[in-house]
Amino acid sequence: LFIVLEGGDGAGKTTQLSLLEQWLTQRGVTVERTREPGGTPIGERIRALVLEHGHGEVDPRTEALLFAASRAAHVQQRILPALRRGALVLCDRYVDSSVAYQGVGRGLGAAAIAELNDWATSGLTPDLTVVLDIDPAVSRARQAQRDGGAADRMESADDTFRASLRAAFLDRAAAEPQRYLVVDAAAEPAQIHQQIQVRLQPMLKN
Ligand code: C5P
Ligand code: MG
Repeated sequence: LFIVLEGGDGAGKTTQLSLLEQWLTQRGVTVERTREPGGTPIGERIRALVLEHGHGEVDPRTEALLFAASRAAHVQQRILPALRRGALVLCDRYVDSSVAYQGVGRGLGAAAIAELNDWATSGLTPDLTVVLDIDPAVSRARQAQRDGGAADRMESADDTFRASLRAAFLDRAAAEPQRYLVVDAAAEPAQIHQQIQVRLQPMLKN
């Protein structure tokens, strides 16, 4: 199984991935946890390259191609091999982040970015995508609070940009409700985890 967590900055993806990893491991599931951009040696270098630059500093097409390149390496070198071994892959961000940030947020077009990433991933689609739906003001406030936020290139992003991300994630989820779970990121972490468990449980074999 290939499971992805998506959502704007500060939505709590990392917290939920840790709770999920713990729960699944306790159940005896072999978990491969990974993230984007990153997840491979080349991908991590692309991540560092992109994160060195603040929001809006990199030309949008360049940014879209870098994220897609990181993803192509990730799919071929890490995700597909893990799935073939029978592991459950838990991934922090995937194609929806590119559609939201570069396609909608930076105006390249959702369809163009979806097509680019369909090519980059050879069409590999998650079995379940969980969208942690976060309000723009909450996203901004959580990000401002975060300590040691080395990866927070989005600090300068305004509420309009954040609202466009939110709409993009929700649009993707609404188009394929059977493959998505949308949860309110403002809820308690334990409650969010519970909702994800309920959805994932029937997908597990044992
Ligand atoms: O969530 P994470 O910290 O891994 O993301 C790294 C940074 O890259 C974040 O600031 C996120 O908003 C940004 N990002 C982006 N476009 C993507 C994915 C992430 O601008 N497609
Ligand atoms: Mg983050």
